[in-house]
Amino acid sequence: MMRRPVIAVAGLACETSTFFASRTRAAAFQPRRGDEVIEKYAFIQPGSILGESADWRGTLISHTLPGGAVTRDAFETLSAEILSRLREITAPIMLDGLWFGIHGAMCVQGLDDVEYELLKCCREVIGPDVLVSASMDPHGNVSRELAHQTDLITCY
Ligand SMILES: [Zn+2]
Repeated sequence: MMRRPVIAVAGLACETSTFFASRTRAAAFQPRRGDEVIEKYAFIQPGSILGESADWRGTLISHTLPGGAVTRDAFETLSAEILSRLREITAPIMLDGLWFGIHGAMCVQGLDDVEYELLKCCREVIGPDVLVSASMDPHGNVSRELAHQTDLITCY
């Protein structure tokens, strides 16, 4: 039997308006972890064509409602968990791909290009050769740095 590609799924998403006085905190993200990530997407569940074509490994995904800038603490806490779950997944195996599910317009207090910052840290774990696809909202911001970290960017 042919080996199926192993693809991890990770992502943080918040459409931020920096004009809001409110701040988006970690509790607003309601993250899904591990198998809960796979359960969210019918098209990668076992029994579906994509689900059977690859070995999908959920790390942490979290999409919150649009709101004010995300607190630095929330971003660092959720990012750290993504990275530690990626390290666990990649300890015994090589990943073939990473699906980086973002919105693209998230702002974090004190950081300008947060999707790039997070993906750069993911790259430090998975290496430069793993295929990374980023799915984003049509009006997400794509910096040159973010584009250089990804192999495929698409909007949903
Ligand atoms: Zn949007």
